[in-house]
Amino acid sequence: MRLRTLEVKIGDLLLGNCHPVRVQTMTTTDTMDTEATVEQTIRCIEAGAELVRITAPSKKEAENLLHIKNALRKRGYNTPLVADIHFTPNAAEIAARIIEKVRVNPGNYVDKKKFEFIEYTDKEYNEEIERIRERFTPLVKICKEYGTAMRIGTNHGSLSDRIMSRYGDTAMGMVESAMEFLRISRDENYHNIVLSMKSSNPLVMVQAYRLLVQTMEREFGAIYPLHLGVTEAGDGEDGRIKSAIGIGTLMEDGIGDTIRVSLTEDPEFEIPVCKDLVKRYENKNFAGSLLNIKEKLPYSPVDYLRRITSDISNTGGSHVPVVIADFMHAKSIHQNDLQSIGYRYDPALDKWNISDGAADYIYTADKILDFALPGTLKVICNYKTWLQAPDKQKYHPLIQGEEYSSVDNSLAQSCYVALDCNNEELARNVVSALRDNKNIVLCVWSSGERPMLSVRKFITGLMNEGIKSPVILVVESSDTTIDEQLIHFSTEAGALLLDGMGDGLWLMNDPSVIVNQKISGRTYLETKNNHQFINNTSFSILQATRTRISKTEYISCPSCGRTLFDLQETTAKIRSVTNHLKGVKIAIMGCIVNGPGEMADADFGYVGSGPGKITLYKGKEVIKRSVNSDVAVEELVNLLKENGAWTEPGN
Ligand code: SF4
Repeated sequence: MRLRTLEVKIGDLLLGNCHPVRVQTMTTTDTMDTEATVEQTIRCIEAGAELVRITAPSKKEAENLLHIKNALRKRGYNTPLVADIHFTPNAAEIAARIIEKVRVNPGNYVDKKKFEFIEYTDKEYNEEIERIRERFTPLVKICKEYGTAMRIGTNHGSLSDRIMSRYGDTAMGMVESAMEFLRISRDENYHNIVLSMKSSNPLVMVQAYRLLVQTMEREFGAIYPLHLGVTEAGDGEDGRIKSAIGIGTLMEDGIGDTIRVSLTEDPEFEIPVCKDLVKRYENKNFAGSLLNIKEKLPYSPVDYLRRITSDISNTGGSHVPVVIADFMHAKSIHQNDLQSIGYRYDPALDKWNISDGAADYIYTADKILDFALPGTLKVICNYKTWLQAPDKQKYHPLIQGEEYSSVDNSLAQSCYVALDCNNEELARNVVSALRDNKNIVLCVWSSGERPMLSVRKFITGLMNEGIKSPVILVVESSDTTIDEQLIHFSTEAGALLLDGMGDGLWLMNDPSVIVNQKISGRTYLETKNNHQFINNTSFSILQATRTRISKTEYISCPSCGRTLFDLQETTAKIRSVTNHLKGVKIAIMGCIVNGPGEMADADFGYVGSGPGKITLYKGKEVIKRSVNSDVAVEELVNLLKENGAWTEPGN
């Protein structure tokens, strides 16, 4: 059963109460450019958007929503429109009389962010709430009168100073920020409300939504519909992976009534990704979801703690999750083939160059390699082949769960046991044998209808029984497009990693399916090499779940009518000069009004501050103001150098 929420009406669209999950996006045009906004909105609707959001930074844009709405209706498009409001109650009050929904950000609707820490007494805090009530109630009354819906949309990066001072930068702070506004709305008997808890960090986002559901249930005995999204997810494959991990993890549990995948791409390209996500859960059984589990869990879904596992070879314990490259289908394996998984052989120097995204293991099935391996790469091969392997330090056996009992299980060396946890009897037998053998790493998947739920249940069982064997998450995709495969891998593996489960990733697909395909949207990733695609996807999932950092992280806003430069082009330019800076988080934000607040935990920020002008940040601190955009990328590099965050490419 999906999470049953209250029903909300947005124009003619019904949302919540187990209606289909609605997909939406947001325009990137200048709202004062009626024609461009209308044309882009139509492209989004034609792509399948069921709601389209348009920014209304001030009164004049809010007023222009009337022209946009009329032009759309004249052309036969009745899709509900949503006004996006930050800082300007006046604009919200105008928009709420014109279009079907307004989105307010409780972090900045009344408060102006000064990044100040103030210690509030309870009395002072309550006075602040009364101040919000005074400023927010008029909007609630207008929405009630005009039948307008509202989204109370919290952003992790733009919590008010008041919330930050009391709750810190936490999921609880995000929840409380929305609850303050929700309580005021309820006091006015206004319920046409949707909520969101967005963050660019999928872990924070997932925890905040789960906490919000618990809080509403406890306080009201009812749950308002939820709009899911990961903010500033970026573009291309990373944007899709981050979004799928955050949104997919919640949808696995039946949470979510409407979604937006925020990509730094043209908004119509977000819709196919939304649709791919939604279709995974149509007519699905949610029996094993967190909402339907009645027993006490051995971990907290709102507090990250990695499952405690034994340290076996370089897997489990305090090691970062390992990556296994699957070469099962390769007819033969040569030195050059390892380039696609991060190892480049230099014959002149007889030396391997190893990248930060280099796999830890290669699965060869029944092949023994005829060349010396790089020092950091080990082999997993089938048990019978392993018996013939020359170097038992480098080679590890893979034993099928079914043959496990017939193998000498006193093997001193670490070995890998492949297990379909959907086969409950087999799983029970293998688990009971684990108690006697401390050298086993489990490689677990499920052939069931809902693999993630089934693997989570299996790992939860291990935790309940105190079994500490590390678990490699094996995920196979039979999807036929890159987008679908990225979503599948990200959701199936990401959801478990966010709950602290998984000591490694072993992704696999049919190598013939997606080679030479292009990712949808304007940012083309062409898959020429399937091993490289799988390896990159593994490392990107680990990076997005923050379980293993191997590359630069980009937090870029999707852009909107406030954007002051070409975000897609600039993001690509910044990426091209900084993508070797492992672990550095760089935010690229379209405007100075929301950008600094919303760039959350970025180390450095590149923010549009006026036509042709950029302001550069270190954390939340302004370092260089009004830099000419022609030299701003260069200045960003200088800033990275001045702060010891720069290394020369290739080092
Ligand atoms: S940060 Fe980007 S998406 Fe957000 S308001 Fe500014 S330009 Fe628009």
